[in-house]
Amino acid sequence: MSAPFSLPPLPYADTALEPLISANTLSFHYGKHHKAYVDNLNKLVEGKDLASMSLEQIINHSAGKADMAGVFNNAAQIWNHTFYWNSLKPNGGGKPSGAMAALIDKSFGDHDTFKKELANAAVTQFGSGWAWLVKDGDVLKIVKTSNAEVPFTKGQKPLLTIDVWEHAYYIDYQNLRAKYVETLIDKLLNWDFAENNLNA
Ligand code: ZN
Repeated sequence: MSAPFSLPPLPYADTALEPLISANTLSFHYGKHHKAYVDNLNKLVEGKDLASMSLEQIINHSAGKADMAGVFNNAAQIWNHTFYWNSLKPNGGGKPSGAMAALIDKSFGDHDTFKKELANAAVTQFGSGWAWLVKDGDVLKIVKTSNAEVPFTKGQKPLLTIDVWEHAYYIDYQNLRAKYVETLIDKLLNWDFAENNLNA
């Protein structure tokens, strides 16, 4: 039987985010870390009912269950990383327009306050995890999650994410997480992806 899960292709060339995120970082982060989560999950679901479920179904099914922590962690990390690659694009950053811009203003006051809150969440997440822009009810919020945790198991709709595991920035930024976060927010965030998620 073939493995049910595969590593999704990167949405751009591995040199596309240089010099802000190097091809060397992507070779490890995508080629080793993201791939390992896929390989691990395939081993964990082999011969089980889980093998016929979607990634989202597995995440929702295993969330919060101590005896399924390995399944949850690997499935959620596959999902999170695919979402992260799509949250970035070459020549990204800047400000959104239209409905997204209006929601940012309604939820945070203005774009600069949104940027500060997102950066603060990404920098203050203790240890490994993720900072997110989510839609919660009819407003946008900034949330942070630990390790592999995802917002959608709590009913929040993810729009963008920043990976703050050390493996995301250590090759290019060493211990300077704040500089990595500021670079992503100003130059790489993919607002087209966020708008698609908002309207999905
Ligand atoms: Zn990562």
